[in-house]
Amino acid sequence: MKSVDLLVVGGSAAGTTAAEVFRSLKPQSSITIVSDEPYEEYSRILLSNYLRGEIARDKLFLKKPSWYQEKNIEFVKGVKADSLESASHRVKVSTGGEYQYGKLLITTGGSVIRLPITGDDLGNVFYLRTLDDADAILAQVVNSRQAVIIGGGFISLDFATCFRANGVEDVLVLVIEDYYWQGKLDRDSSQVLQKTLEKNGVKVLTNEEVAELRSSISIRDRTPVVREVVTKSGKTFEADIVGIGVGIKTDLDWFKGSGIKVNRGIVTNEYLETNVPDIYAAGDCAEFWDVIFKRQHIMGNWANATSQGLAVGKTIAGVRTVFETASSYSADFFDRPRVDTSRSTGTAKSPRVEAGGHCSFIGVTDESFADEVVTRGTVAEGKMTRIFIKEISGTTRIVGATVINNPAEVGPLTMAVKGKIDISVHKGSLADANFDLKNLVS
Ligand SMILES: Cc1cc2nc3c(=O)[nH]c(=O)nc-3n(C[C@H](O)[C@H](O)[C@H](O)COP(=O)(O)OP(=O)(O)OC[C@H]3O[C@@H](n4cnc5c(N)ncnc54)[C@H](O)[C@@H]3O)c2cc1C
Repeated sequence: MKSVDLLVVGGSAAGTTAAEVFRSLKPQSSITIVSDEPYEEYSRILLSNYLRGEIARDKLFLKKPSWYQEKNIEFVKGVKADSLESASHRVKVSTGGEYQYGKLLITTGGSVIRLPITGDDLGNVFYLRTLDDADAILAQVVNSRQAVIIGGGFISLDFATCFRANGVEDVLVLVIEDYYWQGKLDRDSSQVLQKTLEKNGVKVLTNEEVAELRSSISIRDRTPVVREVVTKSGKTFEADIVGIGVGIKTDLDWFKGSGIKVNRGIVTNEYLETNVPDIYAAGDCAEFWDVIFKRQHIMGNWANATSQGLAVGKTIAGVRTVFETASSYSADFFDRPRVDTSRSTGTAKSPRVEAGGHCSFIGVTDESFADEVVTRGTVAEGKMTRIFIKEISGTTRIVGATVINNPAEVGPLTMAVKGKIDISVHKGSLADANFDLKNLVS
């Protein structure tokens, strides 16, 4: 059994940042990061650009092996934390080894929710979370002409942009809901997004639940592959590549019985401390007490994970630090021309990019949390911003916003949310698309 002062489970944005901060404050302490992926830290957000052929694979990596040596951080890759015994401060890992920790930080992010249908593990069906997923998608997409994407959301946009950028001719998105990205967007914002998809050759069908992925044997390598996607309404769609993006979940099983309080994620206070002494959580897996919005909150974005890594690294080192950030998540799609990335998987096909799209989620975009939601833009204009307003401690504040195809509005809205600015004098002007949102923060 190995003893370490700080054991970090998960070596991505939150875990690596926390280890680095802890090292800077505790030069003499021992630190181990255990990651079940076979790579040093890479940028998960750049996977989208990699999939579109915009950047080469080696540009994804944020840390080289030498970085861990220089920081005196042991990085154990390809190894999974399997069980936790919190009373004795022990974590067992997939190689059979065991660590005794002084402090334990869990930054295990999320893993994809799998569709409960047969065939989702066949060779031409993909989920997207890791670099291995992206490599496998790129290897298949060059031989594909017809794609079906199941689910609407960020990952769905990534699949659609990747498939079109790699020359897939027919791309169809199937969503179970009444409209694309229901649950995160209102109907009009969704319409704006859907029109952008359609301009770029991507069709969207709503109210379609997938019943079956029908397979046959591939002539090329004699393995079973999906040929048709069948929906519960009885429709059948041909496909030689299928992308599934129906959400992520936090893997809470490996520490069952440890006493850690869980809900949708690992429940922490504003210091990212769990209810069990010496155990902390940060990043996508943490359901933290949000001091800005005064509620438990789970986020799924890179900036949040990094900021939490910064805060919790200090806290673990003894400089107790409240985590306080209103984070945002932006994505561009169908926007940039393909460049030659010299990938071994082959031929670049030219994209048919008509008009790029953009979407951003800033702060809390939950109608039940806000007192009022103000809308700017129209479906006809192809732009839509929704601003979520709430009275907090006697001030009128913007607590969040969704911005579709209007990237110039992201900066001032983010500043207004983060700066907790009282916008009461401007509230009446917000719905006027000619009102410059920069006035909120000037
Ligand atoms: C394709 C894609 C595009 C994205 N684009 C954006 C974007 O544009 N902007 C944005 O803000 N966010 C984006 N995100 C989300 C962003 O990547 C995540 O919010 C961020 O990576 C979360 O960081 P994290 O450190 O909390 O966890 P993760 O990055 O999920 O890392 C957790 C790590 O822990 C490992 N792990 C899990 N369980 C164990 C275990 N038991 N033992 C050992 N290791 C384990 C995982 O394999 C993983 O390596 C994107 C995500 C994807 C997949």
